[in-house]
Amino acid sequence: MLTKKPYQNFLDNLHKASSTMKLSGQALARLEEPESINNFQVEFELDSGQKECVAGYRVQHNSARGPYKGGIRFHPEADLDEVKALAALMSLKCSVVNIPMGGGKGGITVDPKKLSKTELERMSRSYFRIGTEKGVFGVHKDIPAPDVYTNPQIMAWMLDEHEQVLGYKSPGVITGKPLELGGSLGRNYSTSQGGFYVLKKYLDSIGKKLEDTTIALQGFGNAGAYFAEIAHKSGCKIVAASDSKGGILRSKGYFEAKKLNDYKKETGSLRGNFCQGEVCDLEKMKREEVREVSNEELLELDVDVLVLAALDGVVHAENASNIKAKAILELANGPVIAEADDILEKKGIDVLPDILANAGGVTVSYFEWVQNRSGDVWEENYVNEKLKKVMENAFDDLTKIKEEYKVSYRQAAFILGLERIVRAMELRGQI
Ligand code: NAD
Repeated sequence: MLTKKPYQNFLDNLHKASSTMKLSGQALARLEEPESINNFQVEFELDSGQKECVAGYRVQHNSARGPYKGGIRFHPEADLDEVKALAALMSLKCSVVNIPMGGGKGGITVDPKKLSKTELERMSRSYFRIGTEKGVFGVHKDIPAPDVYTNPQIMAWMLDEHEQVLGYKSPGVITGKPLELGGSLGRNYSTSQGGFYVLKKYLDSIGKKLEDTTIALQGFGNAGAYFAEIAHKSGCKIVAASDSKGGILRSKGYFEAKKLNDYKKETGSLRGNFCQGEVCDLEKMKREEVREVSNEELLELDVDVLVLAALDGVVHAENASNIKAKAILELANGPVIAEADDILEKKGIDVLPDILANAGGVTVSYFEWVQNRSGDVWEENYVNEKLKKVMENAFDDLTKIKEEYKVSYRQAAFILGLERIVRAMELRGQI
């Protein structure tokens, strides 16, 4: 359970890094609060003709290195505290991978599953119209992207609304668009691909081969499913995987990514192929050498790498001491909270942190923005080659900091990100 509010979790990590690197009080004060918080009253019409109004946000944390960049999430539990934390992490993430962008994040407190497609469209358009008219969004100012429960179609509606207000085309105002509207090849799997490049560099650094690496994977959505495919193709051995309905474990051998995808496609969940409620098809499980595993148990499996690709706050003070994996790759945002970090560090478990491990998504979003602004369309191989270079350079830069300060990967990522942002603020004369 996440016992602390997300923004406090960010502040805890910020303060820890700040005291290690001896950040000035002036710099710290600027980074402790976002540059601007925008609250929107998002009004739209329901299919019944009734008016609905929901709370929307856009938090702009830091723009010293470039325009704000970060996703928009639609979620019933999205609130200002969470959006503020995610915006701040975006500033650091862009800085860690050294792309010229700042950090922002948006959200609407709404359950999108309760809206029809037309209602979802009207709400998305209303949110973006408000942000455009208020001057919050703009190709040189703040460039959103998809996040939880938002997708390329929603980005397309938002782009269209923005261009209607402006009266001219501006495709670079939003990324994660459909390819037909200027989206980038490789964007849909870029988070997982970037995470894999980081994992490969890490395994190289400890002298471990991909073929000898066992993986337990929590979360089988966009990030998790693509990661399974990429890791399996490269020889890693996936022993367990889970989604919100529970998990499955191979009693002998390893899962093929295609098999996991087939399971998911057939019943909508991994476990659903073998169990309906409490009743499981034991014969089928025996035949396919599969056992059931709860989400809690999956986290505590004795594997080489635990890949977290679902929710925030899943590794916390109460379960951190039970983790047996040798390393954790954070594809999700904030799955390991600050108090668990200390316990894992003492146990010698390396955590490859979100602001490095899932930065492939924002990196290819940045490539999309570059393509839109130059009118170019890059080939998929070119996108992936450039992504590989960015992720590998970030890992190398971070490793140097880790050795210099003798800190964890997360602290090294914070220090690296902060150093670059602070330098940009100094150059601008802000501090
Ligand atoms: P998604 O909605 O496609 O998938 C989420 C997955 O988590 C689903 O399989 C869901 O069943 C599973 N899940 C939910 N509750 C669970 C639980 N209690 N135990 C196990 N699994 C559970 O989302 P996504 O796009 O894959 O994003 C996952 C995480 O990665 C989020 O934290 C997101 O912010 C982060 N992330 C995603 C991207 C991206 O490009 N998709 C980029 C950066 C960060």
